[in-house]
Amino acid sequence: MPELPEVETIRIGLAGSVLGKTISKVTIRNRRIVVRPQPGRWPRALKAQTIRQISRRGKFLLFTTDHFRLLVHLGMTGQLTYRDKSRIDDPNFFVHPLTGLQKARQHAVDKHTHLSLYFTDGNAMHYRDIRQFGKWRLYGMEEFKQAKEYWSLGIEPFTSQYSWARFLAGLEGRKTPIKSLLLNQRFVAGLGNIYVDEALFEAGLHPLRLCESLTEEDKRKLFRSIPRVLKRGLRYGGTSFQNYVNARGEAGANQERLRVYGRSGKPCRRCRSPVSRIVVSQRGSHFCARCQPREPGIEGAAKSETKY
Ligand SMILES: [Zn+2]
Repeated sequence: MPELPEVETIRIGLAGSVLGKTISKVTIRNRRIVVRPQPGRWPRALKAQTIRQISRRGKFLLFTTDHFRLLVHLGMTGQLTYRDKSRIDDPNFFVHPLTGLQKARQHAVDKHTHLSLYFTDGNAMHYRDIRQFGKWRLYGMEEFKQAKEYWSLGIEPFTSQYSWARFLAGLEGRKTPIKSLLLNQRFVAGLGNIYVDEALFEAGLHPLRLCESLTEEDKRKLFRSIPRVLKRGLRYGGTSFQNYVNARGEAGANQERLRVYGRSGKPCRRCRSPVSRIVVSQRGSHFCARCQPREPGIEGAAKSETKY
């Protein structure tokens, strides 16, 4: 799933290509990804609208046009790519060696391309999503106040919101395992399975450690490790698992730099003991049992799994 670094990389790429472009046509081929309003209303609303701003909040991309706000969540496998008519499409979809899933570069419309914005200059932006968990929402400027999925997001890393005081307040009174809380977008926005596992490794915390068991020092380490792993992801253009590609259809390079995620059975990069995998909140969680010791007293809280 694209997380903060991947979505931000896509945002930067799109800002360089679609900002200032005027929409000539919207084509929705699969209604399933459209949350609101009903698909029939989109073409008329967006026709002749110019894209004035592209921002990001957590894992959401927000396109601001003259009269609308278009809020996009890429779900598990969403790919948002720009199609420059002067460039040649790449007919190859790259298949990930681990997952077998596809990656796209600049491409023509295919059966997984569920929505396209066409611009007056003849170029386009395509949305491709094999698993169809992406969500597209269109709001009038005034209506955007109702966008609960946006306004309920937690603190945003790399902004003044990400403060020690707010971080502590978010942890206060929580009784869940720390991994579950970190996946909750209402605590820190933009984290998903990959960067949560990486941040917990950096902080030396077992994914099942209960929030209430964390010491001041643990919290401090976690507070620092989150931006650190996100920054590393950003520096390498995101992590190329599954279908993530940036706006130009290029895969990221961060996967070579991950410490624990997707490395179960491989030696820990710090102590060389094998990386473990368990399931927490229905998500595969990777950690080093030696570097991230588990507290006594919470045995049996997770199902053990050895391999993918
Ligand atoms: Zn280790």
